Amino acid sequence: MRSQFLEAIETAESWLDQLKGGPGLSPTCPLGDHHIKALLSACDQEEINTLIETADYARKVFMGNQVHLRGIIEFSNHCARNCWYCGLRRDNTCLRRYRMPLRDIVAAAREGAKLGFKTIVLQSGDDLWYSASMIRQMVESIKQEVDVAITLSIGEREFSEYEEMRAAGADRFLLKHETADPDLYARLHPGMTLDGRVERLKYLHRLGFQVGSGNIVGLPGQTIDVLARDICLMRDLDVEMAGIGPFIPHPATPLAGYPPGDMMTVLKVLATCRIVMPWAHLPATTACGTLDPNGRQKALRAGANVIMPDITPAEYKALYEIYPGKNRVDIDAARGYQLAVEMIISLGREVGQGYGHSSRHRPAPAA
Ligand code: SAH
Repeated sequence: MRSQFLEAIETAESWLDQLKGGPGLSPTCPLGDHHIKALLSACDQEEINTLIETADYARKVFMGNQVHLRGIIEFSNHCARNCWYCGLRRDNTCLRRYRMPLRDIVAAAREGAKLGFKTIVLQSGDDLWYSASMIRQMVESIKQEVDVAITLSIGEREFSEYEEMRAAGADRFLLKHETADPDLYARLHPGMTLDGRVERLKYLHRLGFQVGSGNIVGLPGQTIDVLARDICLMRDLDVEMAGIGPFIPHPATPLAGYPPGDMMTVLKVLATCRIVMPWAHLPATTACGTLDPNGRQKALRAGANVIMPDITPAEYKALYEIYPGKNRVDIDAARGYQLAVEMIISLGREVGQGYGHSSRHRPAPAA
């Protein structure tokens, strides 16, 4: 009798073969929720290798050999939320808070563009001190000076605020759903709901942003079922990008005493995501590299096709501590770019050319 795992792999392989006709075909993914769970349940080394090889094949066929580089500027570590896992949480009074002046943000973007980044990601805590028009000004100031795509990752806002940011020319929005279990979501995010998060992701899509979501792997109370629901949710939302990384405990949070997520589970989630959403951009996340010195290389071999080096100036970088060990202050933007390029070449891949938009991207309205 064929195992459920093998049946899922065979379904995936025949679907991927049909799709090779071109993304224009875009038939519905035949992998049901039970297939996704079977892939995530790969347990012996042979099954895990098969899963990862299938994901790597899907990545090669649908995304090619290019690895896209996105430079992240973490422009504020103030946060109005109190997420249980995050070092930026409001109640963490030990953290010195900062907001980068606009001129420093633009200078960092300029330097990033000079190094070769074609996308700048502007990330912050949920810092409501910034009005939508201040974010608009940030996006416009960068776009006036440098030719880059811009991703915003600034958390939950009113719908009208997202509209203003999109009108300013922001191309993409990254808002991880974190976990698709509504109860776990509510426990970990006081005052917030999974529904609220999902509504925002849908609205961002309607506005024409290329939308990124993602989860944290290894949260306390998370099961394989929940991880399968994470992937089903992202498939159903038809996200253009999925950021998948391990949980890393932060000592100044209520989850300080919990163990970190494990790399193998992260790789299984990543590989399954690549198979289910073959055209999605999947970063080899910084958290993978923090958990395991070779974590990003492993992720790039298991379906990932994006690296997001941190290009925040050194004076702020150490303070954006969502989890310990995240940011290497000794690695500046130029070195971070160089290390990423070396990693890409050492894996026999190529540095992405162009903006690295989603293959189904809608252009940003004129600023
Ligand atoms: N305020 C923005 C950006 C948050 S920081 C927003 O809500 O979208 C970016 C990501 O860091 C979060 O989405 C979360 O997935 C991740 N993160 C935070 N704390 C973490 C931890 N302890 N371990 C792993 N990932 C973490």
